Amino acid sequence: MSAKAGLFSLDGELLCEAKFKTKKCDGVECTVSSLVELAKSLAEQANVDFSKVVAVGMGVPGVVNSEDGIVLRWTNFGWNDAPVAKLFSEFSGKPTYIANDANVAALGEAKFGATKKYQSSILLTIGTGIGGGIVFDGKLIEGFKSAGAELGHITIREGNDGLTCACGRKGCYEKYASATALIRQTRHAMVEDLDSALWQVADGKIENVDGRTAFIAARSGDETAKKVIDQFVGYLSEGIADFVNILRPEAIVLGGGIANEGETLFEPLRKAVDARTYIAMDIVPLKIVGAKLGSKAGIYGAFTIARDKIKE
Ligand SMILES: [Zn+2]
Repeated sequence: MSAKAGLFSLDGELLCEAKFKTKKCDGVECTVSSLVELAKSLAEQANVDFSKVVAVGMGVPGVVNSEDGIVLRWTNFGWNDAPVAKLFSEFSGKPTYIANDANVAALGEAKFGATKKYQSSILLTIGTGIGGGIVFDGKLIEGFKSAGAELGHITIREGNDGLTCACGRKGCYEKYASATALIRQTRHAMVEDLDSALWQVADGKIENVDGRTAFIAARSGDETAKKVIDQFVGYLSEGIADFVNILRPEAIVLGGGIANEGETLFEPLRKAVDARTYIAMDIVPLKIVGAKLGSKAGIYGAFTIARDKIKE
């Protein structure tokens, strides 16, 4: 398991950060105690006495109830009802607050990153699947026991021809608009068009295709690549339009490697979303932007949940 950690001043300045590979550990107590050791070593690196640390915030994968700090389920580690926040607090002597890692990243981006000037935003992280989080009035919208905001699992394809998702449903958003989906769509287009510039970008090998391949070929003017991007933007905008119709945030932030594609992505995406939302952007504005903090969004968000809790 890898973990990222940051030590912040109370006014939000990142003093020191580090990335760790934690050793393989049996059970929640062992994992948490190794995380406490990591926190202590980070303070040491920053030359800050650990006794001066006021509180700890953490983003944890899985179903994480941020109210009571219990990880209800994390299948990778086989955790059920694991009292992670309580254990960390016992082992470290610090008040500890946790939330789901995708939600924490959304909060970090909302407070310190791309959307810090907006009161409401939705982060969509486009990766292997689609993760993300919803922030309104500076607070996460997580649902009952923090089990909501599973943004990748709305359906955008109806009926039995939808692709089957790991969650058991057919036609889920992330089966069409994740980076994994884009790679699949790119490969499919290459097989259909052996003359496409996509082949050059991929050095003639279909296994070299990644999330950037279609964007690079589209920028060189390749028509097949442009069609791949058009189709992908269509899928991506279907989900965004749903979130906008229900919640109407001021901004949508896209995270993941795709955020670096700039206007090749964002210009058509804004048009596609505007064409699909019930209330158009000339009536109520909507920003669609790329994330800024990258993999640091999580530590900024973890800092934010801890700071906001101790302020209460
Ligand atoms: Zn699903």
